[in-house]
Amino acid sequence: MKKIAVIGSGAGGLITSSKLAKDLSKEIKNGEVSIMLFDKKREQEFQPGYLEVAFRGTDPAKIRRPMKKLVSEGVKIVHDNCEKVDLPNRYLKTEGSSEKIDFDYIIISTGSSPDYDQVPGLRDANMDFHTDAYNSSLIYQQVLKIKSGRIVVGIGGLPYKCPPSPNESAFMLDEHFRKAGIRDKVEITYITPFTRIYSADSINEVIAPMYKDRSIESVTAFNTDSVDASKKEITSLEGETMKYDYLFLTPPHKPAEFLKNTELSDEDGWVKVDKRNLHITDYDNGFAIGDTTNIPISKAGVEAHLEGIVVANNIIAEIKGTEKRYKFTGRTQCSMETGFHKATFVVGTYDTPVQKITPSTFNYMEKKVMEKIYWGSLHGHYEWLFKYHFKKDYFEN
Ligand SMILES: Cc1cc2nc3c(=O)[nH]c(=O)nc-3n(C[C@H](O)[C@H](O)[C@H](O)COP(=O)(O)OP(=O)(O)OC[C@H]3O[C@@H](n4cnc5c(N)ncnc54)[C@H](O)[C@@H]3O)c2cc1C
Repeated sequence: MKKIAVIGSGAGGLITSSKLAKDLSKEIKNGEVSIMLFDKKREQEFQPGYLEVAFRGTDPAKIRRPMKKLVSEGVKIVHDNCEKVDLPNRYLKTEGSSEKIDFDYIIISTGSSPDYDQVPGLRDANMDFHTDAYNSSLIYQQVLKIKSGRIVVGIGGLPYKCPPSPNESAFMLDEHFRKAGIRDKVEITYITPFTRIYSADSINEVIAPMYKDRSIESVTAFNTDSVDASKKEITSLEGETMKYDYLFLTPPHKPAEFLKNTELSDEDGWVKVDKRNLHITDYDNGFAIGDTTNIPISKAGVEAHLEGIVVANNIIAEIKGTEKRYKFTGRTQCSMETGFHKATFVVGTYDTPVQKITPSTFNYMEKKVMEKIYWGSLHGHYEWLFKYHFKKDYFEN
């Protein structure tokens, strides 16, 4: 019996376990393969929807689903978190049990989450839309009360997931206050540690003029050092101090606690992998995908998805004894809403720089279609559509 353990049932973990269960259904039925998925959570949220909750007042319940509806047939979910992975000896331990759980293959897909401890004062001052839908809904309650003042949005520290999301918050706030007829009374300031409004030049060329047109002020090369909630001031490492009335920054992110200070991870706890085959360094039977890897590309659902398909295909090939192996091309595709039903996409690979894509209503519609099919895609539905859409970037042979 080949035992496959998947740690974390977010976007990457669900897609990977579904693909494995579908393609190994015969082996699972025959008792030759088992798939165990570990996660304490009992429900999952559609994270890109946090923006709609925070800035348009979408009901958080609309972007949430119970886990039992998301786990595919053939996959056994264990509602417990992993606290130790011993790759040389091929076992893991969970928080709720002292039992050693053996595996033949392991896929770590434990994501990333905001780390308020990195920026003194940020927790007391900030409201963010990267923690969960509930926190995002608190932002909207605040936004509805704002009649004037200075809102500071942007990047409060690196790394974080979904690179365009802080820019989207600026555009969505601009739209909100224009529609409310009080845009002239509300200042929106975007801060970023990068030297331009968007780190990739091609996207910066598209959105920098839009910031100007929409009167969104930008302060670049601003590395948030600390925040003083009592004085309503942010100070940068560069020594600049900025006043705010409302603060909606994206905090820096951290990996799952159990990965820190292990041989699997780098000094910050991100899992060290080969960027093409996703093997955890030096281990043929260990893989990591999605936000938790140390690959220096964006932390986004599309990467988690495409990496998961590569890993699942390679494990399936090994179990079935076929020769073919697959690689991840580094494909990114993050949508960036620019307000008023328009969006652009941040698209690139390891070998091709980020493209310049003009915001359009068509792109916005594509983003909306992705939202509609998201839950089904976790079950492995629409594989034909993703293959068609990503073409050779779906995986490289
Ligand atoms: C506001 C916002 C907008 C976004 N927009 C986009 C977008 O437009 N396009 C896009 O591609 N991406 C977007 N993303 C990013 C995307 O949601 C994430 O990158 C994606 O979910 C990463 O998938 P993952 O599987 O690596 O991690 P997650 O989906 O975060 O899943 C990680 C799972 O691991 C579990 N876990 C953690 N620790 C343990 C443990 N010790 N044991 C077991 N389980 C554990 C967690 O409970 C969680 O369920 C957005 C994110 C945000 C916040």
